[in-house]
Amino acid sequence: MYVKLKKKYGQNFLIDENIANKIVDLINFKKLKILEIGPGDGRLTDKIISKNPKKLELIEIDKDLTKILKEKFKNNKLINVINKNILKHEINDNYDLVISNLPYNISSQVLVKLSIMDNAPNEMILMFQKEFAAKLLENRLNSINSIVKCFFKIQLKFHVSKNCYRPIPKIDSSVLKFEKLNKCLLKKNEIDNFIKFKRYLFSYKRKSLKNLLKKYEINSNINLDIRAESLELKMLIKIFKEINF
Ligand code: SAH
Repeated sequence: MYVKLKKKYGQNFLIDENIANKIVDLINFKKLKILEIGPGDGRLTDKIISKNPKKLELIEIDKDLTKILKEKFKNNKLINVINKNILKHEINDNYDLVISNLPYNISSQVLVKLSIMDNAPNEMILMFQKEFAAKLLENRLNSINSIVKCFFKIQLKFHVSKNCYRPIPKIDSSVLKFEKLNKCLLKKNEIDNFIKFKRYLFSYKRKSLKNLLKKYEINSNINLDIRAESLELKMLIKIFKEINF
C-alpha cells in the first residue's frame, strides 16, 4: 500500500535488512512484553515478531500508517496497534522492553519520559542521531546524560549509516541499549527538582559550581572550583541532596 511520507513526523524508514536483524538480535529473551514506538509501516515490527514476544504494542502517530499496520497485523493476536502521539500517551502498562527508531526531533523528550516514569522498562533498544547518541555516552556530564544515567546504564551497540534509511537523513545513527539500574539514583519525589537543578547548572556550564551555588551552604568536602560537567554523577546527586534545591 502506498502512503505519502510526512516530514513533520520524522519519517525515515530503515531499508537495510541486515541492520534490522542486527537490531532485533539485541533482544536476548523470548516472551517479553514489548512496546515499539513509531513502527512506521512495520518493517522492524516483522523482525521483532521473530523474537517471540509475549505481547507487542505499537504506538504510531500517523493515521495512514496506523491503518496499514492494523491491516497488516489483523490476524496476529499478540499485536495491538495504537494511534497516538507518544509524548501525550500515558504509559500505564509495564513493558519489559521498549524498542524504537525514534524521530530525531523528539528523541530527548521521549527518552526522558521513558527514563523517569514509574514503570520504566528493564531494557530499551533505541536508535538516535549519532551526535545525540554521543552526548548520552560522553563521560563528561551534560544536561541529557545526567538525568538518563540516574536510571539506566547506556551502551553503544553499533552505528548505522544514513544510507540505510529512506529518505536518506542528513546524519548517521547509532543504536544504543539501555539497562535499568538495580537501584535508581533518584527517588520519585526528587526527580522534578533534580531536573530543574541540572538544567540550571548546565545552562551556565562554563561557570564553576562555586559560582553557581554560592547562595547555598555546602558542608561536605567537595571541590567546588570545577564545572558541573567534570563531576561524577554520584557527586552531582550528593550536592543536589545536600542543598535541597
Ligand atoms: N520504525 C520504522 C519507522 C521509523 S520513522 C523504521 O525503522 O523503518 C519514525 C516513525 O515514528 C514514523 O513512523 C513516524 O510517523 C513515527 N512518529 C513520529 N512522531 C511520533 C510520535 N510523537 N509518537 C508516535 N510515533 C511517532
